[in-house]
Amino acid sequence: MAGEPQADCLFCKIVSGEVPATVVRETDTTVAFRDINPQAPTHVLVIPKAHHPDAASLAAADPQATADVLREAGAVAADEKLDETGYRVVFNTGSGAGQTVFHAHAHVLGGRGLNWPPG
Ligand code: C5P
Repeated sequence: MAGEPQADCLFCKIVSGEVPATVVRETDTTVAFRDINPQAPTHVLVIPKAHHPDAASLAAADPQATADVLREAGAVAADEKLDETGYRVVFNTGSGAGQTVFHAHAHVLGGRGLNWPPG
């Protein structure tokens, strides 16, 4: 069922505490933790606690949780003092776009210059 924890999902295991992560923020509906393979001085992932495979399916199933993820992405940026220098929020969607974990997650990236267009 949409939103239910999936036994084979790495990020569901981070939500449950079965897999460790460096958590920087947590709410009733979201967890934010440092990416294990950072691509910028700040690289934090914000995920909904409920399992949805990507951002679009999260938005279709639970608009409030989608808003919670985006609000928390902004809060991470403020905590990391990125709101003046700028930062990027990215949802890789589909393997062709680099998605490797199929539990919706926002990458919050900052602390260095960010090129456009992205690679
Ligand atoms: O967008 P994509 O699905 O590729 O992002 C998954 C991210 O999860 C990667 O940046 C990877 O480094 C991160 N990751 C993590 N902790 C893990 C496994 C993956 O932060 N235990």
